[in-house]
Amino acid sequence: MSVIGIIGGTGVYNLELDDPSEVEVETPFGKPSDSITLGKLGGRDVAFIPRHGRYHQLLPHEINYRANIYALKKMGVEQVISTCMAGSLKKEIKPGQVVIPDQTIDLTKTRDSTFFGDGVAAYVDMSEPFCSSQSKYVADTIAGMGIDVHKGGTYVCIEGPQFSTYAESDLYVMMGGDIVGMTALPEVKLAREAEMCYVSIVGISDYNVCGMTSSCMENMKGMRLLMKNMRSILSEVVLGLHVSTECSCSTALGRAIVTSGAGISSDTILKLDSILGKYEIDTSSIGVHGSILK
Ligand SMILES: [Zn+2]
Repeated sequence: MSVIGIIGGTGVYNLELDDPSEVEVETPFGKPSDSITLGKLGGRDVAFIPRHGRYHQLLPHEINYRANIYALKKMGVEQVISTCMAGSLKKEIKPGQVVIPDQTIDLTKTRDSTFFGDGVAAYVDMSEPFCSSQSKYVADTIAGMGIDVHKGGTYVCIEGPQFSTYAESDLYVMMGGDIVGMTALPEVKLAREAEMCYVSIVGISDYNVCGMTSSCMENMKGMRLLMKNMRSILSEVVLGLHVSTECSCSTALGRAIVTSGAGISSDTILKLDSILGKYEIDTSSIGVHGSILK
């Protein structure tokens, strides 16, 4: 059984795992948001990291997403379940409910969004950014717990940390957005580059658009309940999570690297060992389009 990675978003800073142990993980991309806690949840081996740090000391644009994903990869994680908070852009998506998004629109501006570069070029497919097979399982599991969950939805990721103007919210709706948040990107892209299945459990905090306001008290009540339930949601989800044979997340790099083997330095190969280590790179190859990978 592989280790399941859990990235805790706003409100999920500590998961109270069984048999916990904390490890400090160094990565070629710097330090993750916090130490990683290894332990058991629902009887499964998990590696947990709070995205914003355990005290929520990091703003969305300050998070070292590359280090977080790389650190989980180093821990042997093949599947990531992340939690996020987001605002709703649609009347039918209500505060306190859950969305399992299936699409993203990346409006971030300043974040490092790839492991590649530095002499190696890779172009991964992001047409389905979230693992569709695992997302379906997660959504069905949460629905089975009697929680209101929307299966699918487009997550618009803004830079923040300020919330949106009315005009911006109107624009996101025109773009086809269903929810708006600040942290799914570039996390989901990096998980794809690291060949991990990635699913996001998004809790809805409020309405983001004018004319759809709900009372603050209602929001807080729904949100508090959702936060209270998050550990049991995650326990239930990881319990039956299996390595999917129906998705291609674990082979995302198979044809994505276009740099000729001869052009990739041994330093870069070493730096990306946790990601590229499974491939035999023929450094004498001068071919293109994945021909460096056996
Ligand atoms: Zn997958």
